[in-house]
Amino acid sequence: MNATPEAVRPQSTSAIRVRLAPSPTGSLHIGTARTAVFNWLFARHHGGSFLLRIEDTDRERSKQAFTDNILDGLAWLGLSWDGDPVIQSERVSLHREAIQKLLDGGFAYRCYATEEELTAMRDAQAASKQAPRYDNRHRDLTPEQQAAFIAEGREAVIRFRIDDARSITWSDMVRGEMRWSGSDLGGDMVIARRAPHDQIGDPLYNLVVVVDDAAMAITHVIRGEDHIANTAKQLLLYEALGYPVPQFAHTPLILNKEGKKLSKRDGVTSISDFRRMGYTAEALANYMTLLGWSPPEGMGERFTLSQAAEAFGFERVNRAGARFDWDKLNWLNGQVLREQGAAALREQLLPLWQAEGFEVGSDPAWETDLSELLSTSLTLLADGVEQAKPFFTTPELDEAAQGQLAVEGAKAALAALLERLPEAELAADQAQTLLGEAATAAGVKKGVIMKTMRAALLGSLQGPDLLTTWLLLHRRGLDRNRIQRCL
Ligand code: GLU
Repeated sequence: MNATPEAVRPQSTSAIRVRLAPSPTGSLHIGTARTAVFNWLFARHHGGSFLLRIEDTDRERSKQAFTDNILDGLAWLGLSWDGDPVIQSERVSLHREAIQKLLDGGFAYRCYATEEELTAMRDAQAASKQAPRYDNRHRDLTPEQQAAFIAEGREAVIRFRIDDARSITWSDMVRGEMRWSGSDLGGDMVIARRAPHDQIGDPLYNLVVVVDDAAMAITHVIRGEDHIANTAKQLLLYEALGYPVPQFAHTPLILNKEGKKLSKRDGVTSISDFRRMGYTAEALANYMTLLGWSPPEGMGERFTLSQAAEAFGFERVNRAGARFDWDKLNWLNGQVLREQGAAALREQLLPLWQAEGFEVGSDPAWETDLSELLSTSLTLLADGVEQAKPFFTTPELDEAAQGQLAVEGAKAALAALLERLPEAELAADQAQTLLGEAATAAGVKKGVIMKTMRAALLGSLQGPDLLTTWLLLHRRGLDRNRIQRCL
């Protein structure tokens, strides 16, 4: 073997082929989805291909329902892939052929060590404070020794030789020059399990990934930094199998508030959870792009995937972990809801309003104007139900609102306003004049009547813009009764 595998080959940008290789052992996780985003952005930026491979070699833990969830989630996010997904389990003969080639070339061998022997080995290592590793004990068995193990009925695994003295280097598109020593890789690695002397058995992850990436002509492997040690091992496999070596980009982990790797314990982590909570695909995709990538100056933080694809490159992907920031995601979601305009927002709110029992459908223009008003303070679409409530049902007066009505001159000002309140539609400047006149008549500051009107109309001192609120309620004749009940 050479001292160093050939690490980087120049790639022509038009022929770029990347892949996402999810294992269908759970729902689409935010980490996988973010890896998908970076693969997609890179492929689209270069006019290359973004391929999918379903890594279902773990037959027990892989489920069709998870595959469906993953494909659904990617499609929902707008991460379109090229061609049909490759199903890894359908390619096992290809994987076995590669292993046979490694056996034939002396790169791999059968190891007959039993579970008990391996445990005793690790215990001894622990006792002498050594890192656990396979000690390569069956690397050079004689045919007689092999025959004796087989006669004992021992099961074998197939291991790939990793010389301790090897140095492995590559130029990572995110992390720069990477250097590993063979001695850090835990000894000869298992590439197939349950492999009796005349069979190859079940090929394992590192081998299978290399065979498939080569067969799919993948030019750039973009995946999470938790795969860095695998990359070192995989480079040795590329070399032994004589495959062209792709480039690698290891993207930073997503961290929680405490700076630890985001996990199930942090609550929502699957894309379907975010979707169920009411986040839009657009905001979530936008947000995931920002998890580890810094957009160029002047681009801002709100953009579509296509806009990001135009600007995307690994030189702006950070090495440091990316902290998950709910406030930013919420802000983006609100932006997306507002951008689509009031009419589209009304369309989305209608079924939610209906489900809540609000009477809707008779006055689309009014509902659109209400949507416009609500849009200014929405984070999630569902917030538009709670916030719309006082526009469809008469609210109770909360304590603060009752307190406001008890303020000196407040009721007198309300009464003065009610006297002047026209039946006909009210324009904004007219409403302003009315507020001023009522305040003067009652001898209070304009702020007092404004706050009191808010209390009377909404039952609370919180809420959207007062004037717009009032004009909307007036159009449906709802303001008069609410003022009256306070007097
Ligand atoms: N199936 C692996 C995973 O989900 C793929 C890793 C890779 O991209 O090579 O982590």
